[in-house]
Amino acid sequence: MPQDRPTSLHTMGQQYGRRSWAEPWKIKMVEPLKTTTREQREAAATEAGYNTFLLRSADVYIDLLTDSGTSAMSDRQWAGMMLGDEAYAGSVNFYHLESAVQRFYGYKHIVPTHQGRGAEHLISQVMIEPGDHIPGNMYFTTTREHQEMAGGKFHDVIIDEAHDPQSLHPFKGNIDLAKLRALIDEVGADKIPYVSLAGTVNMAGGQPVSMANVKAIRALCEPLGIKVMLDATRMVENALFIQEREDGYADRSIAEILLEFCSYTDGAWMSAKKDNLVNIGGWLAVNDWDTFEELRNLVVVFEGLHTYGGMAGRDMEALAIGIEEAVKDEHVRSRVGQVRYLGELLTEWGVPIVQPIGGHAVFLDAKRFYPHLAQDLFPAQTLAAELYLDSGIRSMERGIVSAGRDPKTGDHKRPKLELTRLTIPRRVYTQAHMDVVAESVKACFDARESARGLRMVYEPKYLRFFQARFEPI
Ligand SMILES: *Cc1c(COP(=O)(O)O)cnc(C)c1O
Repeated sequence: MPQDRPTSLHTMGQQYGRRSWAEPWKIKMVEPLKTTTREQREAAATEAGYNTFLLRSADVYIDLLTDSGTSAMSDRQWAGMMLGDEAYAGSVNFYHLESAVQRFYGYKHIVPTHQGRGAEHLISQVMIEPGDHIPGNMYFTTTREHQEMAGGKFHDVIIDEAHDPQSLHPFKGNIDLAKLRALIDEVGADKIPYVSLAGTVNMAGGQPVSMANVKAIRALCEPLGIKVMLDATRMVENALFIQEREDGYADRSIAEILLEFCSYTDGAWMSAKKDNLVNIGGWLAVNDWDTFEELRNLVVVFEGLHTYGGMAGRDMEALAIGIEEAVKDEHVRSRVGQVRYLGELLTEWGVPIVQPIGGHAVFLDAKRFYPHLAQDLFPAQTLAAELYLDSGIRSMERGIVSAGRDPKTGDHKRPKLELTRLTIPRRVYTQAHMDVVAESVKACFDARESARGLRMVYEPKYLRFFQARFEPI
């Protein structure tokens, strides 16, 4: 596998025989942005406890908090919203959704949920017994929380390169098969219900998993009766990286690659708020009938009947259409291309970011940005606050605050990666917005020596990064 195949925008354009890159859509409706003064932003930051999750969006200029539920829907999706069949049971829109998932992801049985964590909750409750072990490629906050609430213990078995923000490995989302084998030997295959595989890996910087890796995981797990369950939240972005970087896939479409990848897994859960281009929604899917039976039974307790799972009919229609749009090559290239544009600009200007540039976000490496700040002073949280104060741009911490505490020792988990995420919503901002973002990051970088860090003054028990409060030191 080539480690150094160039994937810049320039070569991407050449690869597809085009001179330059542009969005494959034009704008039909606009939403004005609000600008604020430094004074207003200081007041807003204080009120929000220096936590970007607690800011009011009305005080934000360019919102890069998350790509979750922030996509712009297409005119076709909005038209679909008018075709909502709001029947309690058996809505037409559910069957559209079901067949879209079957057609593009290839799974047999579908359960709709209100969003990704609803799906994670159900799958964890159905598949995990107390005392089980769940290996996965790094972790995702809500995924791990549900696995642990179901009595499982999560084990990170991602390759070591994923923890090194400077490693140029083309598939930093891969599972280390030796680590996985060692865990199986240690706890026994019967204590591992499934491998929790995410493509791309958000916490590693939006890094992909290769087709070769999922095949090898499948080959190892299948004879031992261990299932492979996919967090498919950003799998179409993962498919683009396979198309660009893995031998034999350059001429295959995103849709073909997605379908092949899913075929090596036993089921998936999905936050449709990401790849699937809707503002709310999720689903889970499995091939095994017995598991489906249990899921279909449990969904009525927590989400809603198994033909709506917490979504309105119109939302399911927009989702079904969104799935079809999301797998189009032109869309994925433009989406990932915009992220890459921002990342390449920052790299050119000497700002330390996670390399290679991921699929949905540019991750600033706060440890190298603020080498003078100890991790207990929350460097990534500090950087998110400084960026907001500078320009009103909202980003998110993905470091020691997000990692939470060790449930046994009560001490902070200290992740190797201390990152501030600039997450790009799909089909929302233009290249000019990316220029403004890069300029503000550069301004913070130039002023880096004056950053002093933060002190945590309020800490919630679960998923603390959402609601924790801080004060400047
Ligand atoms: C967002 C996300 C989830 C959770 O989905 P929600 O829709 O936010 O509940 C799960 N896994 C990954 C990788 C995600 O990014």
